[in-house]
Amino acid sequence: MKDPRPVNLLEPVRRGPARPHLVTAAYHTPNGPLHLGHIGGPFLSADVVARHLETLGHPVARISATDSHESYILMTARRGGLAPEEVASRYHDEALAALTGLGMHQDAWPDMHRAPYRAIYHERSHATVADLERRGRLVRETEKLLHSSTTGQGLVGAFVQGRCPACGSGAAGSSCESCGLWFGPADLIDPRPVLPEDGTAEPRTVTSVFLTGDPRRFSGEEAARRFPPGYADLLETYVTHNGRRIRLNHPLGWGVPWRGGAAGDVHLSYGTGTYAAFSVLRDLYRTADPAGRDAFARDTDVVTIATGGYDATLPWMFVLAFMDDETDWQPHQHHIMNRFLLLNGSKFSTSRGHVIWAHDYLRAALPVDPLRGYLASLSDAGEESDFRTADFADWTSRVLAGRWDPAIRRALRDAAGDETAVPDSFTAEALTALTATADALRPPTTSPRAALAVLDDWITRAERGLAPGEPAPWLAVLAVLAWPLMPTLGTQLWTTLGRTDHPTLATPLPTRVVTPEAFEGLPTVTRSAVEALLPEAGGS
Ligand SMILES: [Zn+2]
Repeated sequence: MKDPRPVNLLEPVRRGPARPHLVTAAYHTPNGPLHLGHIGGPFLSADVVARHLETLGHPVARISATDSHESYILMTARRGGLAPEEVASRYHDEALAALTGLGMHQDAWPDMHRAPYRAIYHERSHATVADLERRGRLVRETEKLLHSSTTGQGLVGAFVQGRCPACGSGAAGSSCESCGLWFGPADLIDPRPVLPEDGTAEPRTVTSVFLTGDPRRFSGEEAARRFPPGYADLLETYVTHNGRRIRLNHPLGWGVPWRGGAAGDVHLSYGTGTYAAFSVLRDLYRTADPAGRDAFARDTDVVTIATGGYDATLPWMFVLAFMDDETDWQPHQHHIMNRFLLLNGSKFSTSRGHVIWAHDYLRAALPVDPLRGYLASLSDAGEESDFRTADFADWTSRVLAGRWDPAIRRALRDAAGDETAVPDSFTAEALTALTATADALRPPTTSPRAALAVLDDWITRAERGLAPGEPAPWLAVLAVLAWPLMPTLGTQLWTTLGRTDHPTLATPLPTRVVTPEAFEGLPTVTRSAVEALLPEAGGS
């Protein structure tokens, strides 16, 4: 029997040539381990979109960094009696280990505290300021900022709390979790130190430096081109409260020292900090790309995608202020954002032990695919969602074991000895599903939840019955749809079809089952197993 006509769905789904991509997963502050709220947000969406692009034959570089100069690093260090470098590097490494364990590997994960990046990061921070100064884009202002009466450290970032100047909610540091606004350290209402050992708050005169944003670039319209619908409003609100400018330095005493500044005056980790970190990503991408492309040039043909949590929106937008006509630079072109994830109805909280750590999940050897699948079902750019441990366990047994597993086993059985050609009508259905996934995952409105719904519909297609010639290509399409969300499942299905690469449309779809035993079944997670991971429940 000769091979049937090859089924090639790449061109109709991809609708264009392969393009190089850079995917940056968050700009995470490494002041503690990653919990499922971090994982289900920016890290999952980055990995899902990267894998999806790879199924379409696009080359993808995963290059991300951590924000090790954030004030919360110093806060964690002071609370634990540690050096801030120690905190940042420890959790930087632990985050990478957790991500790798969850199938979310990174091609580069530079730590700005260690060689060779430390020197580059410092040098870029200084050079950026010198360049902006020369071009007249900086303004200096003398202002009174609060300092600790005991240590003399500036009460900025994580070290000061009070009420939000916009909405009046309780707020700490430079941002309000209720309304999303970012503001200056002098703007909090009723400010007071977070740490009792900081004594009282004493105003001292400092010189603050601000970057003025080019009105044509640092604008809601520019943000709207790069962020999901509705997000640009945050920048408009910021500009209303702060003007079209961003703060570049503060007296935190932790960070890149500000040249010519007073003792303790450092670069803010946002602003030049983010810009300098991105310039390191730019170097790393150029090195990784066989053609040596500049991913951040204004006319680049590299597609750049960043993911972040809702609270990171304004810091991501602040780098828009670095765009101007004299600099051949632009930020990431697409930003995939997500709202907070709750755990059993309330916020993740380290202090209350209301948290599930990624490393605990991995250490308990619980299966990764069901976790990724369930987190995908909760992903949302528009509103908060809730990881419910009982729902998670129920989903794995009812959906994965109850429906997906038997549908796959039946298809594997029916594919044995099936030599029928793939019906054209079935190819059209496959094209519809694959196109729906491409639409669901296209940035910046990328929705792993919508992609999971397409995958579930594809299972339903088999539950309705597969005709001769359909089971093997159904499995092949399932592998392509599943691999971004649940890589183990995708890989196993692809292996049953005799393939050793990752699921892809770049080559004709395999249409024969060769090694059905490669499918090991869909694992479930019991409620007691996942709830044992809650520290508040007396688990690990
Ligand atoms: Zn607020």
